[in-house]
Amino acid sequence: MFPVEKIREDFPILKREVNGKPLVYFDNAATSQTPQVVIDAIVNYYTNYNANIHRGVHTLSQEATDLYEEARIKIQQHFNAKNAYEIILTSGTTDSINMVASGFEALLTSGDEIIVSALEHHSNIVPWQMLCEKTGAVLKVIPMLENGTLDMSVYNTLISEKTKLVFCNHVSNALGIINPIKEMIAKAHQVGAAVLIDGAQATPHIKPDVQELDVDFYVASAHKICGPTGVGILYGKSEWLEKLPPYQGGGEMIETVTFEKTTYAGLPHKFEAGTPNICGGIAFGVALDYMNAIGFDAIGAYEHELLIYGTEKLQEIEGLTIYGTEDKTAVISFNIEGIHPYDIGAILDKLGVAVRTGHHCAQPIMNFYNIPGTVRASFSFYNTKEEIDLLVNAVQKAKMMLS
Ligand SMILES: *Cc1c(COP(=O)(O)O)cnc(C)c1O
Repeated sequence: MFPVEKIREDFPILKREVNGKPLVYFDNAATSQTPQVVIDAIVNYYTNYNANIHRGVHTLSQEATDLYEEARIKIQQHFNAKNAYEIILTSGTTDSINMVASGFEALLTSGDEIIVSALEHHSNIVPWQMLCEKTGAVLKVIPMLENGTLDMSVYNTLISEKTKLVFCNHVSNALGIINPIKEMIAKAHQVGAAVLIDGAQATPHIKPDVQELDVDFYVASAHKICGPTGVGILYGKSEWLEKLPPYQGGGEMIETVTFEKTTYAGLPHKFEAGTPNICGGIAFGVALDYMNAIGFDAIGAYEHELLIYGTEKLQEIEGLTIYGTEDKTAVISFNIEGIHPYDIGAILDKLGVAVRTGHHCAQPIMNFYNIPGTVRASFSFYNTKEEIDLLVNAVQKAKMMLS
């Protein structure tokens, strides 16, 4: 049995009420809640270690540096990167993607092709459009199918000698669909193209092995994996990180500076200009420890139970459609016929149930289904079947009030 009641004790926020009702938090795909050990790590950092890192000779600075670099090693081990310097600490997924996009500006020429999937988050579309405008490269899109999966037969025809980059999310944030990234990576490598996988939505549920995937770049945000906001990673194979020019100029990323010429620091510092989110990086390491102690296999299996249970219960509601039905993480994106998703979300909130409504930063998917948005309930390992019952009751109530 998954010890969910014991786990819930670790999350102080789960005890609070919203609009006089116990909070039911089903917006985990937007951000996860924070366990006490991570909150403690943040408080402990500012209480005992706060200092700038890498430059100081004094004790505090050295202690803070050690903690920060230990966190990098925890992250390296979690993702199974070959080297700690292949883990660049960033402000999050968006920042990491922009870092790669900006770096490729120097490597692309007019007529080169970039392939993206139709299931992308806006943060994984806009930087590539900007990159194409700057370089004359052409953006190609892998279309999606009615069941929410990518049309892999089209992907196989899009890949060619012109392909320089492929970008896809590991798990779609709007629908929760798990994409066949291993197969996509292998196919891209046949033509020498690099692949960046957006793992923001996968990492809360799946422990990725970047060496086994043979992925060139993998990005994620701490705040979706029980960590704090404002910190994330760019994993890059060292060959690629060496090839890309630095993203920002500043302190930390240089070796020597004169007005004639600056030489850049080695990895990872070349990509870490300025004072980083030191506390956030340390707390991210603690969050990964916390989740690994529970175990990603146990987390995945329990969340799958919640997904099956929630899907069955919600499907009993007449007029309710679920989008994305194939292999997926514990996300249920749905609509009720004739009712705007926003109206459902507003009533759910009155009943203490937090869901996301809208296009989920993935407008192309909504256009595909010809809908304004969906109601998205996304589950985490600290949620329960009783909470799903509360959601189902609340949706029934909302339906009655609105139709
Ligand atoms: C949340 C999310 C992002 C953006 O992450 P930030 O932490 O806001 O930078 C990108 N891609 C996917 C799939 C996401 O779920």
